[in-house]
Amino acid sequence: MTKRLLTLSLVTLLGTGLASAQEQVVNIYSARHYPSDAALYSQFTQNTGIRIQRVDADDAGILARLRAEGAASPADVILLVDAARLWRGEEEGLFQPVKSATLDAAIPAQFRSQPGANGATAWFGFSTRARLIVYDKIKVKKEDVDTYEELGDTKNKGRLCLRSGSHPYNLSLFGAVLEHLGEQKTEAWLKGMVDNMARPPKGGDTDQIRAVASGECAVAVTNSYYLARLMRSSKPEDQAVVERIGVVFPNQASWGTHVNIAGGAVARHAKHPANAVKFLEYLASAQAQEHFANGNNEWPVARGVQLDNPALKAMGGTNFKSETIPISVVGKNSVKVQQMLDRAGLR
Ligand code: FE
Repeated sequence: MTKRLLTLSLVTLLGTGLASAQEQVVNIYSARHYPSDAALYSQFTQNTGIRIQRVDADDAGILARLRAEGAASPADVILLVDAARLWRGEEEGLFQPVKSATLDAAIPAQFRSQPGANGATAWFGFSTRARLIVYDKIKVKKEDVDTYEELGDTKNKGRLCLRSGSHPYNLSLFGAVLEHLGEQKTEAWLKGMVDNMARPPKGGDTDQIRAVASGECAVAVTNSYYLARLMRSSKPEDQAVVERIGVVFPNQASWGTHVNIAGGAVARHAKHPANAVKFLEYLASAQAQEHFANGNNEWPVARGVQLDNPALKAMGGTNFKSETIPISVVGKNSVKVQQMLDRAGLR
């Protein structure tokens, strides 16, 4: 007992020592939920000597926490995994716009917020993920599901599985469709998808893929990295899932596949703003970008970074046509989309 107490107090002392005033630190609130990210963070500390203190929550939880904490918030960097949420944080003034020649040079304008006064940027995308259609190769013909529009077509009645319509990944997809198709067609499309459901929306993206493989659904929608994770898995049950399903990069003959971003910003009340900018600049570096590609099976955003990921290659993801609308309009459309979802009854 005494020994244990002694150990505990030593740990406490060490902890206090590490947190001394001279020490360089950056506080990150992160919605990235990928185990492979440990290497991403430790590499930054190795490069810079800046220690990372991280709070993990989902996008909505992080925004709520920032609102509640106000000026007292210890957050320096905010990492979110959806364009509409990044846009929301910007709208609410939760971020501190950044001017960085490094970030401006690395991140294409399509993948960051619209420039504000004096050309500063509220948030940057650092990786992209495609929203793909997966289908049952036995029951469904690829040409019946190779566009998002067809998910709402009567020919796919009783086949479709979706996670919640108001989940950020779907809200952003619908916001993109709204931009491409306009209000009337988009609302009719949403209603069509409700009519086509094989079951009420539930679960995450991986659950939708598995439900297609098990025969419960015949068509579903998923972010690309969940699929790549299954493809790279050595578990026989995951390999069986991959065997059964077909994969489509939708809308290759029209406006291209919808891509969302994972991105970051400097918190409005950051106590270590210089370290925060350093961290964002690190995320745009070749080292971090390669991590997004090979660790979490995302596509790098920074210019000039090469992709070498067998699973992305295998699913046809090295040379597909992605949409070219600025990702910031997807956020702007999300408010309108939520109202359309309520009218369409897509929960
Ligand atoms: Fe995710």
